Amino acid sequence: MAQLIEKLRELLERPSHTSGMVAITALDDQSIERLMVLLCVTRDDELSCEEVFNCLDEYVDCLAAHSDLGDRQALVDHHLGFCADCRDELNALVSALQSAADDWPN
Ligand SMILES: [Zn+2]
Repeated sequence: MAQLIEKLRELLERPSHTSGMVAITALDDQSIERLMVLLCVTRDDELSCEEVFNCLDEYVDCLAAHSDLGDRQALVDHHLGFCADCRDELNALVSALQSAADDWPN
């Protein structure tokens, strides 16, 4: 494990030759640890943030209807379990819908 961390650190500290991209020059232990956790929870059938983002509307509809997304439910749940960006997006969507519902005349 220590060897892998060293290897990762070496790879990530290599200066980027691509202009216009932000080069990662150093990673602290906390970042390495986070990266290792992400590597460990990554699945072969992982959804990308974009894929999750594209089905968040549907996901929220399913939450409201107490149903699920079928095959994709577990994948989306899994992604939301470790991706703070998508969780933020989901929370924003849910609160937008809730405030829209509150504004709705009864
Ligand atoms: Zn994501």
